[in-house]
Amino acid sequence: MCRTLPNADSSLRRLTTLNIFLISALLLINYIGAEAKSNADIVSGKSSHGIARSKNPIHDNVTSSEFATLFRDSTLRVDYVFGSAPADSVSGRPKPIVLLKSTSMRKGWAGRRHDLNRPLLQGHGRIIMTDPISGDTLYVHPFSSLFNEWLSLPELSATPQAFQQTFLLPMPRSNVEITIQINDMRRRPIARFTHRYSPDDILTRPLNRQLAEDAPEVRILHPGSSENPINVAILAEGYSREESEHFFSDASTAVEEILSYEPFLSNFDRFTFTAVASPSAESGVSIPKENDWRDTAFGSHFSTFYTDRYLTTPEVWRLHDALSDIPYEHIIVLANTDEYGGGGIFNSYMLIAVRQEDFLPTVVHEFGHSFGGLADEYFSDKPGVCNYPLDVEPWEPNITTLTDFPAKWQDIIPADTPIPTPPEKAAEYPTGIYEGAAYQATGIYRPANECRMRNNTYPDFCPTCRRALLRQILHQSE
Ligand SMILES: [Zn+2]
Repeated sequence: MCRTLPNADSSLRRLTTLNIFLISALLLINYIGAEAKSNADIVSGKSSHGIARSKNPIHDNVTSSEFATLFRDSTLRVDYVFGSAPADSVSGRPKPIVLLKSTSMRKGWAGRRHDLNRPLLQGHGRIIMTDPISGDTLYVHPFSSLFNEWLSLPELSATPQAFQQTFLLPMPRSNVEITIQINDMRRRPIARFTHRYSPDDILTRPLNRQLAEDAPEVRILHPGSSENPINVAILAEGYSREESEHFFSDASTAVEEILSYEPFLSNFDRFTFTAVASPSAESGVSIPKENDWRDTAFGSHFSTFYTDRYLTTPEVWRLHDALSDIPYEHIIVLANTDEYGGGGIFNSYMLIAVRQEDFLPTVVHEFGHSFGGLADEYFSDKPGVCNYPLDVEPWEPNITTLTDFPAKWQDIIPADTPIPTPPEKAAEYPTGIYEGAAYQATGIYRPANECRMRNNTYPDFCPTCRRALLRQILHQSE
């Protein structure tokens, strides 16, 4: 999660709820410190107000057959502001806050309909929907965010700042509680905020199809043929209206490239890619270090957190506004610029510069972050802007501190695999325990010497990344 972007000339590049219900919904209800309830408590179904877990065994795992009982075939979009209050006088650290901005809904639910309360990965945070009466956990969605990353940067997070965040949830049939949990780099909950939501809330705005004559053109570039395909939306950033055909061409290229990699290739029928030619007033993308600011659809810019290559957008709500008339779960934003850079945020979005020579490998790399929750496998001898604690097992499936290696790829390597595995024995150990990953040269390990998550010149995901991606594909499409 902590991003350090290598220079462009590095071979190890990384692009890296109306009633009292609503009133309570608008209040920031609960802040907890690092001593907060464990994440395991939350996932196991203990509600934030301590209601005991239902004895109803069916809610141990919300299955597809229960979906229609618990949810409508509609999507609840919830917009939040993630931010911080001035630093706590005791801890000296900023106090995370979450504010509910608005709710909206659209017909149809594009997400998974099984294992709704059993996500595969922890993420740097989770949004959790619970039944306020039974305490049952109905839906859990892990995420990462720029906010989490900002929190880990003391020199920046000393000044309170706000970040937009949006989540898509299955529309509940009954009143629910929605909890946002934010974790620190030690995987401990550092904040949790709960509000109530009623599906009868008259202030939940319906999102209808855009009927305006100048609505951006939408093309389905690759229709999935499986029963519940994964819906990926591709948006245009920095393309003028006259450049829409360029955008569709670039988007098709991106889709072809992603689907040429395993395990996407073998599961191409499980993906639907839809492109939306969201027009920008100006062509190109803002480059702050050159004082070059452009009026673009999503206001993206390089130099996120003052890292030149880090391309993100502060306008996350606009991304979702542009997609209000199509089903989507994942967002790819193509940035019409030749400046090298990008960024991928797990279960949020990815942005990639298109007109640079490494567009093809980096679009796949960033999709590895935003879709698969994969970590960067590259590192350098220079200390990063932040480090993974070496006595905690990171949640990302393709890196390990060996603190809980059985939870990672121990099952697919020979018992006598040397630690660390020498890079010169990469042919003998296609999967091993190679030291150096996630920006750190020592104490953290990657599963293969080379991988798409490490090097732009290597044409495959390593076996561990392929397995992790396959698990995500199956989890999200079955
Ligand atoms: Zn890998």
